[in-house]
Amino acid sequence: EPEEEPAPTSPSSQPKPMTGTEIKTNISIPAAAERAAGTGADGVGLLRMEHMVISTSKTPEQYVADHGANAFVNMLADDMRTVAEAFYPRSVRIRTLDAPTDEFRQLEGGEDEPIEHNPMLGYRGLRRSLDSPELFTHQLQAFEKLYEMGYDNVELMFPLVNDANDVTRARSLMEKADIDPEKHDWGVMIETPASALCATEICEAGVDFVSFGTNDLTQYTLAVDRNNETVADRYDALHPAVLRLIRETIEICREYDVSTSICGQAASDPNMIQELINAGITSISVNLDAVHDAQQKAARVEQELILESVRE
Ligand code: PEP
Ligand code: MG
Repeated sequence: EPEEEPAPTSPSSQPKPMTGTEIKTNISIPAAAERAAGTGADGVGLLRMEHMVISTSKTPEQYVADHGANAFVNMLADDMRTVAEAFYPRSVRIRTLDAPTDEFRQLEGGEDEPIEHNPMLGYRGLRRSLDSPELFTHQLQAFEKLYEMGYDNVELMFPLVNDANDVTRARSLMEKADIDPEKHDWGVMIETPASALCATEICEAGVDFVSFGTNDLTQYTLAVDRNNETVADRYDALHPAVLRLIRETIEICREYDVSTSICGQAASDPNMIQELINAGITSISVNLDAVHDAQQKAARVEQELILESVRE
């Protein structure tokens, strides 16, 4: 008989501090939704659609070929609903597909994926969706279903955009799928230096929020592959170049009243939390097990800021 693990002390048994900065959580599998909702997180900052697809063991194209487009839409909508329901009325930010081709190649139907030298610089994220408007539209139809069911807490997010042109094209496909961009909260990930440098134009394209994907933003800013152990010691989300892109983007977004968030792994680093709150970020989204510590850290940073301002 294996020895039973001691019961972990439940973080939710300790009072949740009030913070002006929202502390949200990232969810990878919809089955974790109930537990995630129990952390007292202020919402879901990132729910990745690719996990819903990967759990079927088929590429999206293969799934549609085998079961039809309606089944694909319903499968996505069911998973989205699980999370939207567990968190209601807290917001749930769901991201359209962003799997690199090497990941999809492992799945049934994966032999049709393009073979790329450098999948991280290749056919993924919104660029792929814009090239496959039909498959993208199925994803949008899943959102439309949720809105129709009354889940007004669902927010729509696009990955790996570079500029306002990407955003405008995504927006017009939303409209074609009968989603009114004025009625629903939607936004984009800032995870390439280009998107950070084009923040003004991206705000002007009508987004409600941006979210920093520091996993990618770090690798693209520093030219350090996030999955390459040989250069792992050079991978630093707190590098001044990365922080400068983030700070300047937050400043621009504040002018446009566009809310800002972070959903990369670095969000749970206490030093990053400090940097981001000082820069005026709206929300921070961390893994389930980091919610409690992030809440405590955010509360301390905010208290320091208040003390500093009264002592000035
Ligand atoms: C990121 O790039 O920081 C991010 C959250 O997206 P993903 O890890 O899915 O690329
Ligand atoms: Mg990313």
